[in-house]
Amino acid sequence: MSMYFYTVKCMLLDMEDSKFCSSCGRSVEAGMQFCPQCGMVISGSAADVEFKERQQEFNKAVGMVRRNWLIFLLAIYAIPVIITTIVALVDASNIANSIWVSDEFQKWITDHGYNYTKSDIQGFITTAAGLGLASGICATVSLVFVYKRRHWVIAVATCFIAAFLCFWSFFGIIIGILVGWMLVVSRDIFEDES
Ligand SMILES: [Zn+2]
Repeated sequence: MSMYFYTVKCMLLDMEDSKFCSSCGRSVEAGMQFCPQCGMVISGSAADVEFKERQQEFNKAVGMVRRNWLIFLLAIYAIPVIITTIVALVDASNIANSIWVSDEFQKWITDHGYNYTKSDIQGFITTAAGLGLASGICATVSLVFVYKRRHWVIAVATCFIAAFLCFWSFFGIIIGILVGWMLVVSRDIFEDES
């Protein structure tokens, strides 16, 4: 009977003190950092803890690089768009006038049989510039939240709204969707979400 208890005790102690390699399954003694059979880091050992810390530091550094890229991409879109659309809104009448008087434009409306007036042209410019300005402002809001690393959902939403508001520009919408997707997969760089 005492032999039986001894065996059970040994089994219990063994289960507590020794572990198994997560890679090859060999049993490893407590305090071992690497598996003597396959060289795998033993889970929970000092080497494993250090490895995980290094990995976290690396991921954080990669996240910061991604954040800087996002800020850069949003800024090179938002700044010129806001400036040009404000100029277009202020100067819509003159721009419409210069388009109106061009021979190519007159030929184009005659060829297509359109009945556009000069004020229609001004209306188109104002609408496109207004949408562009709203798009640039949305991209700026997204940029601010990326910079602050807060409110991932708002940053993603404003980026996609910025993309769809420039539906009249093929490249604008493609780049906007790509940056939006980059934001979707960069949730880890936002402090309140990770
Ligand atoms: Zn192993």
